[in-house]
Formats: sequence, C-alpha cells, structure tokens
Amino acid sequence: MVVGEPTGLGTILTERFGGEEDEIYRASAPGRVNLLGGHTDYNDGFVLPVAIDRRTGVAVRPQADSRDGNDPSDRTVRVHSTNVGETRTFSLDSPTSEESWADYVEGVARLLAEDASNPRGFDMVVGGDVPMGGGLSSSASLELAVATALNEVWDLGKPAAELADRCWRAEREFVGVECGIMDQFVVALGERNRALFLDCRTREYERYRTDDDVRVVVTNTNVGHELVDSAYNERVSQCREAVELLDESLSDDVASLRDVSVAEFEEAKGTLPGTVRKRCEHVVYENERVREAAAAMESGDVRRVGELMGETHRSLRDLYEVSCEELDFVVETAETLDAELGSRMTGAGFGGCVVSLVRADSVEPFAEAVRTAYVAETGIEPDVFPCAVAEGSRVEDRPSN
Ligand code: ADP
Ligand code: MG
Repeated sequence: MVVGEPTGLGTILTERFGGEEDEIYRASAPGRVNLLGGHTDYNDGFVLPVAIDRRTGVAVRPQADSRDGNDPSDRTVRVHSTNVGETRTFSLDSPTSEESWADYVEGVARLLAEDASNPRGFDMVVGGDVPMGGGLSSSASLELAVATALNEVWDLGKPAAELADRCWRAEREFVGVECGIMDQFVVALGERNRALFLDCRTREYERYRTDDDVRVVVTNTNVGHELVDSAYNERVSQCREAVELLDESLSDDVASLRDVSVAEFEEAKGTLPGTVRKRCEHVVYENERVREAAAAMESGDVRRVGELMGETHRSLRDLYEVSCEELDFVVETAETLDAELGSRMTGAGFGGCVVSLVRADSVEPFAEAVRTAYVAETGIEPDVFPCAVAEGSRVEDRPSN
C-alpha cells in the first residue's frame, strides 16, 4: 500500500479515531516541479511548473453530530500524519501558539472556517509520498489536500483557484513563509500532461502540452542546508530593496520586479548596490526565460526549453546564489549525458531536488549514471525517479448520503 493512497488513510483514521469508513471524505493533491521561473513568483512574475505523480492524501471525518451524544458545536481537530508519525490537536476557536507541521493544516482550516456557516471540528489523517522539505512542495500539496477535503466537508463550493489562494494565505500568515502563489496554484490546477504557464500577478494562465518523448526526472540530493529559511526571506527583502531603488531611478512605476524589463534593468543597474543588482538581474532575465520557454513549449521545441533550464540553473547559482555543491554536481553530471535536454535545481535551494528533462527511452541509464556519479562524489545515496505530469488536487471519495 502506498502511504498516500487515500483508502489506506481511511483505515488508519478509523483505527486511530474511531467512527466508520463510510463517514469519511478523501482528497489528494500532487507535488510539483518548476521547469522554469525560479524565485520569480514572489516578484509577481512568470512561472512554468508541472504537477507530478507524487501525492499527499487526506482522509477526514467531521466530528460526530448530536445523534451520538456529541456536542454539535465541537470545534476540536485531531490530525495525524503518517509521514511524521505524530498526532496533534487544536481547536478552530483559538489558534495554537506552538509551531509544528500541523500549522499547515490549522492555517488552511482556520481560513476556510471563516467562510463556513457552522464549521464542525474533524479528525484527519494525512500522508503521502512527496518528500518533505525537498523542493517538490510537500507544503502546498498538504495544504491543497486539506483544503479540497474541507471544501467538501463544510460544503463551501469553492473553485480550485480560490482554494489555492486560501492555502497561499495560510502558508504566509500561519507558517510565516513569504511565498508566492506558484506552488498552491499548480498543485490545485495542474493537469495531466500539461505544463502550466502562470502570471503570478494576474493569475492568468495557459496550459501547454508536454512532450510524450521526454520525461521529467527528479534527483533528490538528500541534502538540506540550514540556510534555506533565512536565505529565502533575505532574497525576498533584497528584491524589495531593488524595487524601491528602481522605482526612484526609472521613469515608469515599479511595484515589483515584474515591472522591470531587461532594457530598463540594463539602463538602471548602475544605481543598484552589488548584491541587490545580482538578485535583480536574475529575476528580470528569468522572467524573460519563462516567457521564451512557454513559447518554445507551444511550438513543441523541447530542446530550447531544456537549454533555458540550464541557463536558469546557472543564474540561480551565480546571481541569486541559492544553489549548493550537491545540486551543482547533479546538474553538471546530468549535462554530460546524451539523454538529457536540460536540468536545474527546483524549489527554494540549498539542497533538495534537481529536475531534468530526459529522453523517455533513456530514463533508466540516465538515472543510473547520475546515481553512480553522485554516490562516488558525495557518499550520499540520492533518489532519482521519473515523474509523470499529473493532475492537480481532487476529491477522491465522499460519504454517499
Ligand atoms: P517543501 O514544500 O519543498 O516540501 P517546505 O519546508 O515548504 O518544503 O514544507 C515542508 C513541511 O511541510 C514539512 O516540514 C512539514 O512541516 C510539512 N508537511 C508536508 N507534508 C507533510 C505531511 N505529509 N505530513 C506532515 N507534515 C507535512
Ligand atoms: Mg513548500
């Protein structure tokens, strides 16, 4: 049984918290990789991610109603994660102060409860096969799985884009990550064999068919450097500083780096201090690369998409400075292999995963070559696995009456 398999989670739910299987709602949501658009989302820019066939499942049962002698206004939530191996409890009435993984669940539940007429508490089991903290967005996967289930349980009738928005707010307001909308959006709205080109400012999007002859292969370096959270928020504030300076030096209004064209950046870059200039250069050129990649996808030029991914990696490494030796080693190794079309780090950086586009008929030798080289170099066993481009969050099952 796969841990993320929603049926298995239902059994765990009844064993742990009681009740009957036929009272259970089930939902799931995928992880994602970002083909193009590194650190552009929180700059109101463009991204080109895909949802992948690794999922987080949730099984949830609302607190039994007064028939069973329960208090119908009970707002207690009990949630168990099979991945963490822990159960946490909170009440929808008052936020918990202790930080934990359950903040993702609590944040989403709390925001959605605002729109529910009489939100009852619930018991929930979550679990899946999206590696946690590896840059495949297990956080958005968890959030959307929870939101998709609660949308049913509380009968909210919200469309996927609105659930994505609530999950995004939950991660910002309850977990305190100044993330952009990309992860939640593609996790909610991804489609099978389609990449999602998203304008993070307007939230307009376009889907492009992925190439059947090419597979997405993820290499998890299985390293994570401590830096990641503080460096992420530091990059966010450096971009904000660039916006302030460019708003003064350029004639047009600059509300975010999205508003700065390559030509404007080149004209005004002398006014930016060194580090801020590098961050800004990455974002401005990266937005261009994403748009070019979307056009290349539309015309079926996957080779060009791969080249742009390589450029993205070098820019993240040299200008944005969020890579690390292990990620660089995987990218450099992958680039020596004939089957590879392009590779880059994905996620916030400083460890986690590399995403590669690989010819479908050579995935196994590619994976083996990367694995062998990485073990020889680092002594660490990586996880190298192909991913199908999968669909976004969905309801799996609901009680029949
Ligand atoms: P990423 O989103 O790249 O995986 P994050 O640091 O943003 O990394 O999110 C990872 C965190 O999300 C985990 O440390 C954990 O708190 C939470 N999380 C994700 N999936 C689960 C899960 N199945 N069970 C419990 N917590 C989870
Ligand atoms: Mg995350």
